[in-house]
Amino acid sequence: MMTAAWKPMPTPAILHLDNASKSYGSGDTTVHAISNVNLCIQRGDYVAVMGPSGSGKTTLMNIVGCLDTLTSGRYLFDGEDVSAFSEPQLARVRNRRIGFVFQQFHLLPRLSAWRNVELPLVYRNASDRRERAMAALEMVELSHRVEHRPTELSGGQQQRVAIARALVTDPDLILADEPTGNLDSTSTAGILSLLRSLNVSGRSILMITHEADVAAAANRAIHMRDGRFVEETG
Ligand code: ADP
Ligand code: MG
Repeated sequence: MMTAAWKPMPTPAILHLDNASKSYGSGDTTVHAISNVNLCIQRGDYVAVMGPSGSGKTTLMNIVGCLDTLTSGRYLFDGEDVSAFSEPQLARVRNRRIGFVFQQFHLLPRLSAWRNVELPLVYRNASDRRERAMAALEMVELSHRVEHRPTELSGGQQQRVAIARALVTDPDLILADEPTGNLDSTSTAGILSLLRSLNVSGRSILMITHEADVAAAANRAIHMRDGRFVEETG
């Protein structure tokens, strides 16, 4: 039975951009890469960001991923104002709480699949690295390829390894920048179904894409133009 006095704490949004702007350069040559953007992503949400080249998608991804900082406005990650964080504090958020997936996979060619997947844990000296890497590879259905090097895997399999590497730290948020941009349609479908199942099991995902059919895999899509959000669908 619930007692009248008990109230759950409200869960903060996993990410909240509040009037966020980022510009490069100064004076006449200033580029407003993103301008006065407001974005709220709740835990468990799956959001696609769409827009033509130059619209500010990568800038947004860099900000959200704590790889860059805002010129003005605020960025709250899980309720904490990271716009005030020092570089070591930002690095901690990046390494522990965000999993990155890139268009080009960014795997180390000389390392086997499981050695690539354990990398985020090497930096923090975890003792159960191998077990966790194997569990992440099982989640992406690559248990039969753990000793293979990237060149011995298809593009779709390489991206699965990269997703396993993003998952191995059990991050709060998965950030994917054009994750299917280098894949054929069959591998694209496989990666989208994997991202969908990761979302269904509770992970928050922000995915950048310029393809409408890829964006349709998310729960909602935000459209950018010239550094601004112009529309939301889904
Ligand atoms: P997208 O990923 O949608 O193609 P970007 O975020 O890369 O867009 O770029 C948005 C705008 O900001 C573009 O006009 C781009 O030229 C500019 N821009 C991006 N990065 C820099 C930078 N480091 N210095 C100057 N201008 C930049
Ligand atoms: Mg880009």
